[in-house]
Amino acid sequence: MEGRHDSNRRSLALGNGGSEASESAVERGLAWLAAHQFDDGGWRFDLKSCPQCGGQCKNSGVIESTTASTGLALLCFLGAGYTQDEGPYQEVVSAGLYYLIDKMLITSMGGDLRDNSLLDELVEGQPQFRKSGDMYSHGIATLALCEAYAMTRDKTLAEAAQQAVNFIVYAQHEKGGWRYAPKEPGDTTVSGWQVTALKSALLAKLDVPRGVWYRASDYFDSVQEDRGATYGYQSPDKNRISTSVVGLFSRMILGWPRNHPPLAKGMARIAKQYPHRNHMYFNYYASQALYHTGGPGWERWNPRMREYLVNLQASSGHESGSWYINENWSDRGGRLYTTALAILTLEVYYRYMPMYQKSFVGDSP
Ligand SMILES: [Zn+2]
Repeated sequence: MEGRHDSNRRSLALGNGGSEASESAVERGLAWLAAHQFDDGGWRFDLKSCPQCGGQCKNSGVIESTTASTGLALLCFLGAGYTQDEGPYQEVVSAGLYYLIDKMLITSMGGDLRDNSLLDELVEGQPQFRKSGDMYSHGIATLALCEAYAMTRDKTLAEAAQQAVNFIVYAQHEKGGWRYAPKEPGDTTVSGWQVTALKSALLAKLDVPRGVWYRASDYFDSVQEDRGATYGYQSPDKNRISTSVVGLFSRMILGWPRNHPPLAKGMARIAKQYPHRNHMYFNYYASQALYHTGGPGWERWNPRMREYLVNLQASSGHESGSWYINENWSDRGGRLYTTALAILTLEVYYRYMPMYQKSFVGDSP
């Protein structure tokens, strides 16, 4: 992940479609995140309970999971090249990583990151979590641990990251997907996070059994239409652009080359879209997928997406550096959620470069 180091980052950002303004926006966003870290090293969607903020920032979220919020915040720092060993936020990142490790529940099936503070009870030896302690949280938090380990080779992270990966392997449904609870028949959005985390684990040289990849491909086969140009949520649905883009990006991670006809056809359809004013989840995935596809679709999309976010960043008061976008999920994830997705979207120019660009997408696991 050489691309994330400071000296490379600026030239990659400016050479790949970013701007001075978008890079400043990333830095201001990270400063806002750092100012909203809790004393225990974690982040919460609920900003009212943040001691430094106390709700000075409006649009607090209500999702209880602290591993999802902490994982998203960490991914933003890691995406900029800032780790526990490098850059201006070493203590912030280190405290966040150890927060996640502390919240992991070690089970015989692996390390469960659904957030042990949301653990309700054990039923027949299986942990039952309150709402929002789910596989979304686990996938996001696992990705953060794997990225940090891949970037630093910090041996103290290796065991935790491997345990978290083992839990993803355990949680896969027999037909290949993942959903809120382990072993449930999958959905495309939860599965997308697990596949991303597993690929990051593989590049970090952690152990991922081969059969997992075949079953994951079987899952995406089961929700595709047009030979793989479109993807539905839990079944084929060619009209769902938001699940289609998650499916297409997952296919790139699973090894489809960018000129594979169904992928090219699907991405041509995504490339006709404008950035959605009220759907950052779509915007985030579309930016990742279009960046890796390149060409006129990306050239058309990128300046619109970039300028939309640069102009929308809050610039006054405690909210300065954050984003709030009123949309479907934002009343639940709140300002922290939309800020993290905005930062990750603006980091697309170097987040997977150059080590990742060659192997993260388009190469078979
Ligand atoms: Zn605040």
